[in-house]
Amino acid sequence: MIPAAFEYLRPKTIPEAIGMLQQYGEDAKILSGGQSLIPMMKFRLARPGYLVDINRISGLTYIREEGGYLKIGGLTREADLEASPLIHAKYPILADTSRAIADPQIRNLATVAGNLAHGDPANDHPATMLALRAEIVAAGPRGERVIPIDEFFLSLFTTQLEHGEIVTEIRIPIPPRHSGGAYFKLERKVGDFATAAVAAQVTLDNAGACASAGIGLTNVGATPIRAAKAEAFLRGKIPDAGSVAEAAQLAASEAEPSSDLRGPEAYKRGLVKELARRAITHACERAGE
Ligand SMILES: Cc1cc2nc3c(=O)[nH]c(=O)nc-3n(C[C@H](O)[C@H](O)[C@H](O)COP(=O)(O)OP(=O)(O)OC[C@H]3O[C@@H](n4cnc5c(N)ncnc54)[C@H](O)[C@@H]3O)c2cc1C
Repeated sequence: MIPAAFEYLRPKTIPEAIGMLQQYGEDAKILSGGQSLIPMMKFRLARPGYLVDINRISGLTYIREEGGYLKIGGLTREADLEASPLIHAKYPILADTSRAIADPQIRNLATVAGNLAHGDPANDHPATMLALRAEIVAAGPRGERVIPIDEFFLSLFTTQLEHGEIVTEIRIPIPPRHSGGAYFKLERKVGDFATAAVAAQVTLDNAGACASAGIGLTNVGATPIRAAKAEAFLRGKIPDAGSVAEAAQLAASEAEPSSDLRGPEAYKRGLVKELARRAITHACERAGE
């Protein structure tokens, strides 16, 4: 379908964009990659009167380590993550996640910030950002604020972002040595959203025990879910087959899936268990490399 009529605005700076969002109020929407918003407009699920296209704001596309964080700029595309040697070398969980999203054409446009701001529990980055304990930097009428990822997702398609706030950066604490992560997703066919997926990030101590763990679940609840019990269980344990299986079982118990076209509730819970087992196992292998 063709979207309803809208005014198209192209700010060149963040303050200009914030000003436009304030001027036109709730009738204005931020447009970045357009890979969620435009389909919603075509289905008339969204009918913004004003589109504030932030793509012409310079300086928002970057991936760099600085001040103890991996920093991902607000206009960084999925394809940028996929092509980044730094991401492949030190953050393979992010490469796993980007690769699992849609198809190359969509990944050329879709932004990581848009993936998070959309607040869709079926999106792939939210669980990974939970596992990595990321922070979201948002610029708005009252200045800049940093939102811990655990406070970011409020409910289905609803985040902490207030109207007029733009995600300008995603910050991920640089993991210590002997850290590794992995993202495992099951989709009905290539390019589909997850039936379920699990992100796991671990750090091992010198004895090979798990010093810390981050585990996020995709599309098994109204928001992405932190598997906090599984994380706590793993801490201090040698991640052998037995303890990983127990952690995976805990992660499955923390999922809140509902039955739908992608499968019944019990199937999805079983899927989380197996995907968690694989993700934690692979994360530990990478941590040991
Ligand atoms: C066929 C298809 C398959 C897909 N499959 C997957 C998949 O498997 N996994 C997955 O994770 N995603 C998938 N997606 C979604 C895709 O990754 C989206 O691009 C992403 O969810 C939104 O990013 P965007 O940059 O395109 O945002 P847009 O579509 O431009 O915006 C989405 C929402 O976020 C807001 N927004 C965007 N950027 C910002 C910002 N910087 N600050 C504040 N608010 C902002 C917008 O106002 C809008 O409400 C798919 C999309 C399509 C069309």
